[in-house]
Amino acid sequence: MLSQFYSPLLALALEAIPFGASSPAAMPRPAGQVNSESPASEPPPMEVRWDSGFNVVTRCTVPGTAALTFDDGPFQYTNEVVAMLKAANAIGTFFYNGKNFGCIYDKDSVDRAWLVYNSGHQIASHTWSHADLTTLSEDQINDEMYKVENALTKILGISPAFIRPPYGKYNDLVLQVASSRRQTVVTWDFDSQDSAGASADAGKNLYSQLIEKHPDTILTLNHETSDGSVRQVLPFAIQKLQAAGYRLVSVAECVGKPAYINVGPPQARDGSWSC
Ligand SMILES: [Zn+2]
Repeated sequence: MLSQFYSPLLALALEAIPFGASSPAAMPRPAGQVNSESPASEPPPMEVRWDSGFNVVTRCTVPGTAALTFDDGPFQYTNEVVAMLKAANAIGTFFYNGKNFGCIYDKDSVDRAWLVYNSGHQIASHTWSHADLTTLSEDQINDEMYKVENALTKILGISPAFIRPPYGKYNDLVLQVASSRRQTVVTWDFDSQDSAGASADAGKNLYSQLIEKHPDTILTLNHETSDGSVRQVLPFAIQKLQAAGYRLVSVAECVGKPAYINVGPPQARDGSWSC
């Protein structure tokens, strides 16, 4: 049993997480947006590395790199994010859900995924329905991972190599299942707080404070579902990060690993393309 080996470590890791960070007033969200990260349920990234056995990426390792990541899409702001990255000659990483704000098989979602992929950005898994994986059985975790991997294989012909668990929450069972699916679990070391209801000004301040410290590498958490994050914080962050000398690259590049397990031809839409 893997849990016999990893539970003590996990317990230590969980104890080290400071919950309940201060949360600014909540931003209004469009109707139906229920599965985004929230301040109460999304802890800062764990510092613990799983040195024996499972691999969790908590930071970029290639010096001078910064990875801008965008969770919870595809969404209506995708085109704006891609345009901003293109204008700055920057690469980002998009962690997709299958069924969260919308359905990944919807024509708009498919078009957005193709735009992101064809623009050279990395696409990764954020699970099917944005459930807290630590509350699920092994079969349920497999299902959450399989369904969005399957969708990306059908739509784009790619099998992602990276998964970000919703809320950044995982346990030894999640890591075991991810490993069995050849998925690398990735969190972040900088949270723009956009899913916690932070204002755009607060998000900019967080980026300014981060860049002032000038860490060797940066692995960010942003959401393409937040208009303030996309339209105000992102252009600010791109400009400041590049001015500070960071190369804006994908998660795969910032850790020196392949983005995909497999790349093949996309499939034609059929009756299975539904949520
Ligand atoms: Zn999310």
